[in-house]
Amino acid sequence: MSNPFQARERFADGAHYIAGQLRPGTSGRQHTVVDPATGDSVYTYELAGTADVDDAVAAAARAFPQWSDATPGERSDAMHRFATVLTAQAEDLARAESLQCGKPIKLSTEFDVPGTVDNAAFFAGAARRLDGVAAGEYSGDHTSYVRREPIGVIGSIAPWNYPLQMAAWKVLPAIAAGNTIVLKPAELTPLTSLMFAQAATEAGIPDGVVNIVSGAGRDAGEHLVGHPAVAMTSFTGSTAVGRRVAEIATGTVKRLHLELGGKAPFVVFDDADLEAAVHGAVAGALINTGQDCTAATRAYVQRPLYDAFVSGVADLMSTVRLGDPFDPATDLGPLVSYAQRDRVAGFVDRARAYATVVTGGEAPGGELARGAYYRPTLVTDADQGSEIVQSEIFGPVLVVLPFDSDDDGLALANDTPYGLAASAWSRDVYRTGRATREIRAGCVWVNDHIPIISEMPHGGYRASGYGKDMSAYSFEEYTQIKHVMQDIKGVARKDWHRTVFADR
Ligand code: NAD
Repeated sequence: MSNPFQARERFADGAHYIAGQLRPGTSGRQHTVVDPATGDSVYTYELAGTADVDDAVAAAARAFPQWSDATPGERSDAMHRFATVLTAQAEDLARAESLQCGKPIKLSTEFDVPGTVDNAAFFAGAARRLDGVAAGEYSGDHTSYVRREPIGVIGSIAPWNYPLQMAAWKVLPAIAAGNTIVLKPAELTPLTSLMFAQAATEAGIPDGVVNIVSGAGRDAGEHLVGHPAVAMTSFTGSTAVGRRVAEIATGTVKRLHLELGGKAPFVVFDDADLEAAVHGAVAGALINTGQDCTAATRAYVQRPLYDAFVSGVADLMSTVRLGDPFDPATDLGPLVSYAQRDRVAGFVDRARAYATVVTGGEAPGGELARGAYYRPTLVTDADQGSEIVQSEIFGPVLVVLPFDSDDDGLALANDTPYGLAASAWSRDVYRTGRATREIRAGCVWVNDHIPIISEMPHGGYRASGYGKDMSAYSFEEYTQIKHVMQDIKGVARKDWHRTVFADR
């Protein structure tokens, strides 16, 4: 199927969006966006250098006074228009996202783009609801109230798995709260972040409020994190890079928001609806070709259901249609790159020494061999401590292990360093209730796995980071609160002065 998005024409002026203009980079290093379904090059651009980051931060700093002074209603109006512009460009956004990531077009069309539009609509409304405690005379002599204020210039760094949604999750709460932002998308996938920023301008959001620098992590990324004029770093990516980002941010005492890796457990109790659990596991493991931080990666199945679950998952995986991302019938696209495909294959190949690869475990042949495809893969008989159970693979690989008692199942679910998401499957409300309390993760689904909504927070526990994306809770991240305490008595010699002066 022909590629319906012409990135070279669309971004002929460059891959960086600063103060409302596309422009070329100045790093002297080129990067090529590759269609992972074919290996064809899509768009070559010059990566952002440190000078480009400096320009973008300066543009965001210039835009801050006007944008932060706008009333919540004015910001809200602009963001409603932003949602409308994104809706009008839905088809183009979906095509660009599928092209640069290899996502099936049905996923981009039905998940990535509508999720982004819904986020924009949510934050347009939420911009007017920056809550805090009620003002009051708590001391008796003063009125105390809280001002919730924007932080300043936000520097954000995003991964390649959901580039458009990650841009939305970073940019929308930040600007709704009155901040301005410089976003660095992953170098593999800059296209939809640029389109998102251009749509903000088209909606009337002032130049400089949303800026994009498409650069590499080690130079543009680290420079953005360490930049003294950036007041907060918001990072989504791997736990390893998150640690490095935290080290750099600490040097300039920035506020830090980290959304890191995951290794979500999927706990199936013996009274679960088996058909629902099997379908949920395959969908939860394969969404976005498994490149999802909340993907179901470790299924723990209580012994009586274990064999039926394994054969059900293997059968269902064999029906999943790999193919051209632009074919509406395609279920599973390639991984984002050949490097990511090889990384996933490495985990599975090493696991053959200690576990059983029930299905998959290979790249497909034929027409698909030129893309970065990898078959849906089911692994069993691995030890809990093994690499394939403990490490984030970020590919279409599900490991299934049995458990006996409920205590065991919940202990296994908590037995990795991560804590982003999890699910519990049972018809017994007391069992699922216990699981939702005891699993240490930022999200626990009951009898489902994956859905997200704009109104509710997304974010991790433990090595999955801290801070919340989406929902009104993200205002906690992107605002700082100030206590204002105003004397209401007008007395020159205040009662408390006696603790300092002997005589009043
Ligand atoms: P990554 O950590 O390699 O890169 C993420 C971003 O950081 C990219 O933009 C990259 O250029 C940049 N980067 C790399 N090195 C850097 C450095 N030294 N300093 C500053 N920036 C640097 O992650 P990835 O491979 O792009 O994405 C996959 C990872 O993202 C997975 O671990 C996944 O779980 C995680 N993720 C988490 C969430 C979440 O909400 N918790 C959501 C999506 C993805």
